[in-house]
Amino acid sequence: MKYDYLIVGSGLFGSVIARELTQAGKSVKVIEKRSHIGGNVYCEDIEGINVHKYGAHIFHTNDVEVWEYVNKFVEFNRYTNSPVALSKGQMYNLPFNMNTFNKLWGVVTPDQALAKIDEQRSELRGKKPTNLEEQAISLVGRDIFETLIKEYTEKQWGRNCRDLPAFIIKRLPVRFTYDNNYFNDKFQGIPVGGYNPLIEALLEGIEYETEVDYFDEKNKWDSLARKVIYTGAVDRYFNYVHGKLDYRSLNFEHDILDSTNFQGNAVVNYIDKEYAFTRIIEHKHFEFGVQEKTVITKEYPKEFEEGDEYYYPVNDTVNNRIYSKYKKMAEQESKVLFGGRLAEYKYFDMHQVVRSALNTANKELGK
Ligand code: FAD
Ligand code: UDP
Repeated sequence: MKYDYLIVGSGLFGSVIARELTQAGKSVKVIEKRSHIGGNVYCEDIEGINVHKYGAHIFHTNDVEVWEYVNKFVEFNRYTNSPVALSKGQMYNLPFNMNTFNKLWGVVTPDQALAKIDEQRSELRGKKPTNLEEQAISLVGRDIFETLIKEYTEKQWGRNCRDLPAFIIKRLPVRFTYDNNYFNDKFQGIPVGGYNPLIEALLEGIEYETEVDYFDEKNKWDSLARKVIYTGAVDRYFNYVHGKLDYRSLNFEHDILDSTNFQGNAVVNYIDKEYAFTRIIEHKHFEFGVQEKTVITKEYPKEFEEGDEYYYPVNDTVNNRIYSKYKKMAEQESKVLFGGRLAEYKYFDMHQVVRSALNTANKELGK
């Protein structure tokens, strides 16, 4: 055996576990089917701007150990995500906070906002929310659901809000202060110079190859390593024996504009369904850039089709049931570990992927 571990995928999961295993003296090889390392956090330098090629990535966490871990490899800036949302010609602050409530209802105090929401959530008559629509109404009432959630969510997921799991909307904070910070976490920022320096530092001194699809020569790769760590789509690994899992994919449309400042914010959400895209990202604002040009990206959600990249697992009841069968199969594979957003089929953010990779490495190393 040439290597102790073959790691399939150079995203955050693959890169963190590669670093941890190497650090412990194991021999590791990483293969990656894309033409670059980094998975979805990869950035490309365009006009001196770090363009988040696979969508806006803001690192945020409450996990001190994870924060300290990533800070060992790169410095983070003080960027705080405060998206705004355009709905029927009006701009609203996100997440749902006193600025949003004031703009929508003219209320000024937290008590007034709460009274408004209480009045609107009474339509549920105390019923425990069982889907995204009911969860949204229970959190912020029908007006906000109709103005800022329904159309965006149905574009993003291609499904009716009543057919989507409640947890998706619970990702967003609801707060009764005038605070537009999109996250509640203690730590937040963007690596200075974008995400590539983080991935490069994690993989420093580790053998890797890009433009290699594991499945093209699976037997060869398996024979080279004692164990495989797989971070691709779990249903693909098992040849879809229990059927295909649903994923949402995205098309990204990048444009270079002859403007210093296109939209005045890194993230502007477009709620109305008349726009086929969900948001426009203006990348320079992640790093307070003052370049002469600007690069923007429109994000068009779509159902995954053969040849697309996998981006979002659809964790509804039907898919979770199918996933639980794959999970059982994965647990029985003694030579293969499964990790990351695609292999664990979980709507993980970056910090959760780092945590999961560290835990997997520790378990593997008997720590
Ligand atoms: P990935 O980054 O998907 O890496 C998996 C890698 O495996 C890929 O490079 C893939 O090419 C490779 N691979 C797959 N199959 C094979 C194969 N057969 N052979 C070889 N290589 C293979 N998280 C946040 O914390 N904050 C955010 O603001 C945020 N924004 C996001 C915005 C968008 C649009 C998306 C899609 C995600 C966002 N995330 C965000 C989530 C974040 O991207 C993920 O949590 C994290 O990047 C997942 O890392 P991973 O290693 O599990 O997967
Ligand atoms: N969402 C919404 N309106 C918005 C922003 C988000 O309804 O303006 C909902 C939508 O269902 C989305 C979910 O909240 O899928 C989570 O949003 P987040 O910004 O966390 O999504 P991500 O960045 O992972 O795409």
